[in-house]
Amino acid sequence: MVFRRVLIATAALSPLLSIFAEGNVRLIGLVMMFASHAVVFYALLARNCRALVSVVRRFEAHGPELWLTLDDGPDPEHTADLAHELAQRGVRATFFWIASELNRCPGLVREVEALGHSVQNHTLTHPKWSFWLLTGQQLNAEIAGATNWLSAEGALAVRYFRAPAGMANLGLARVLGETGLIPVGWSVSAMDGVTCDPIKNAQRICSRSRPGSILVLHEGKSDRSGRKRSQETILATVDKLLQEGYRFVIPEPERLR
Ligand SMILES: [Zn+2]
Repeated sequence: MVFRRVLIATAALSPLLSIFAEGNVRLIGLVMMFASHAVVFYALLARNCRALVSVVRRFEAHGPELWLTLDDGPDPEHTADLAHELAQRGVRATFFWIASELNRCPGLVREVEALGHSVQNHTLTHPKWSFWLLTGQQLNAEIAGATNWLSAEGALAVRYFRAPAGMANLGLARVLGETGLIPVGWSVSAMDGVTCDPIKNAQRICSRSRPGSILVLHEGKSDRSGRKRSQETILATVDKLLQEGYRFVIPEPERLR
């Protein structure tokens, strides 16, 4: 918290030093300005960076436990089927959903949570290019608006938030504090948002998983022939990890790190 305040204050005040001071002090001001702005820029765009927001990246495991998180749903064609397939395997997952997409999926929150899964906040409209630039008001509309929508659709307890692409925003810590949400990142990504190859994606995530890892995969992608590539990836990953003896849990906030 202290580091965060010093960083933001330096980024805000160092330009004044570089404009109004003279000689060596002006040079120091310039160096401070470039260095602090570079760090802020990195902290806003780097995935799950903790310089501006205390993002959770793992949890305290009781044995071989993993947390499966699935981003970018809901999808009217894919989600219900996937939720049932996971439940049949005894797997509980957390779905981070884009709330405005619920327009296309009436009743889905209740259906998915009735299977033992959890539905959480992945913003109202998923502004993945501009999230780091949103004003405080826009940020509040994205985050509080999504929670309200999910709750109105019957979500049991919206308490976790995942930012689009794991980005930050200068107002994010404040909005999360006001809305009581915990920012959740991940330990291991399948990189299935970049290339969707079920075998390679599953191998990547399985080789990097450890007890207490938070796994992230994405919902909803099909190829041109209609094959549900995302679902294949998720189920291939889950099946391999179950074979290796892992269990899938949704950890309580006290276990988050
Ligand atoms: Zn996303």
